[in-house]
Amino acid sequence: MSAYQNMSREELLQLQETLNAQYQDWKAKGLKLDMSRGKPAADQLDLALPMTSVFRQVSDFKCESGIDCRNYGALTGIPEARRLMADMIGTTPEHVIVYGNSSLNVMYDTVCRSMVRGVMGNTPWGRLDKVKFLCPVPGYDRHFAITEFFGIEMIPVPMTENGPDMDMVEDLVSHDSAVKGIWCVPKYSNPQGYTYSSETVKRFANLRPAAADFRIYWDNAYAIHDLYEEGGDKLEDILAACEEAGNPDMVFEFCSTSKVTFPGSGIAALAASAANIEDITAQLAIQTIGHDKMNQLRHVKFFGDIDGMKAHMQRHAEKIRPKFEAVWEVLERELGGLGIGSWTKPRGGYFISFDSMEGCAKKIIAKAKEAGVTMTGAGATFPYHKDPQDRNIRIAPTYPTQEELAMAAELFVLCVKLVSVEKLLQD
Ligand code: PMP
Repeated sequence: MSAYQNMSREELLQLQETLNAQYQDWKAKGLKLDMSRGKPAADQLDLALPMTSVFRQVSDFKCESGIDCRNYGALTGIPEARRLMADMIGTTPEHVIVYGNSSLNVMYDTVCRSMVRGVMGNTPWGRLDKVKFLCPVPGYDRHFAITEFFGIEMIPVPMTENGPDMDMVEDLVSHDSAVKGIWCVPKYSNPQGYTYSSETVKRFANLRPAAADFRIYWDNAYAIHDLYEEGGDKLEDILAACEEAGNPDMVFEFCSTSKVTFPGSGIAALAASAANIEDITAQLAIQTIGHDKMNQLRHVKFFGDIDGMKAHMQRHAEKIRPKFEAVWEVLERELGGLGIGSWTKPRGGYFISFDSMEGCAKKIIAKAKEAGVTMTGAGATFPYHKDPQDRNIRIAPTYPTQEELAMAAELFVLCVKLVSVEKLLQD
């Protein structure tokens, strides 16, 4: 089929009629499907089930340093869990604090502490007139929700296949002391699945911020989440790069096992320089006597080491790769060459990012919803839910079953076609 833009008005009207009839048929099916959040499917959760029975006798609860993990202690995490999480993101254990079940919680806490207490002796942000964060777009809605919640002004920075527009980042960070942070998902970014290039990581490490308390919020949520056994994307170690550049304190790195074991019942970690770790630990000691060490130990016992964890991720990949491929097949077959949408083909992570024609995303999502398929809300991938071009849609293929996904994808492309035709008829 030729590009929609080349069709005459009569052809478009005829097409609209055909598509409308198809849409009514879909609506009559009464579907109820969810492609809105990046959640593992139940069969992925089953993979980690043996983890719940790793403790068999009292001696099993002792960690390497001799602590009984059933009791208080080990504020920054048990040694073997610090090692496992360090290996997961390619750093060393002394950089790592192991927390509880959620990295988003750690990110929220990190921003909250900066607001109330300040970063390493700097003025608490809550006492400043203006605090700003750079937000690569499209990006992760829950990051933007945290900064919006604290009244931090968000400045969108366009993403490229190699990471954020670094000319813009360098300019804003070096000239504006109100810029205190930037949200980054450096590997298999949410939602595009892009991985920051070595050049981008180097430029990040060499930033010369106007604010002494500027930090890069490096949310390495998809560090080991490759879809293919061979040829996963490679991400440079930001902590090492910052050290090398003479900026050791400039980054907070976050990660978790939410999409490795169980979302909501995994373990999360923060990695940073020794000075940052000292600053954070001083507050952490007030906040808690320690996190859930039994869960930390459970993770280590289940995986053994990073190789065990990576082998486990391959089992996830076997389950979700066909889902990504099913969506790509439908997109290519139904929309290829029509000039009404483009999409990403990442080699890992949890999302496909779809860009419709300008001014169509909201309508596409509403149409899909009306026929029973829930997608992530339009605008969610931008600060304040404002997608200036109203075109980005996040597709999360993992949660539905293969059959549900096939139906949801077919309905989605139909909605894209229908809304695009309506738009072209209006223009
Ligand atoms: N960061 C990113 C980029 C994510 O996509 C997600 C989950 N969708 C999270 C963090 C949430 O992590 P956690 O479960 O560790 O809080």
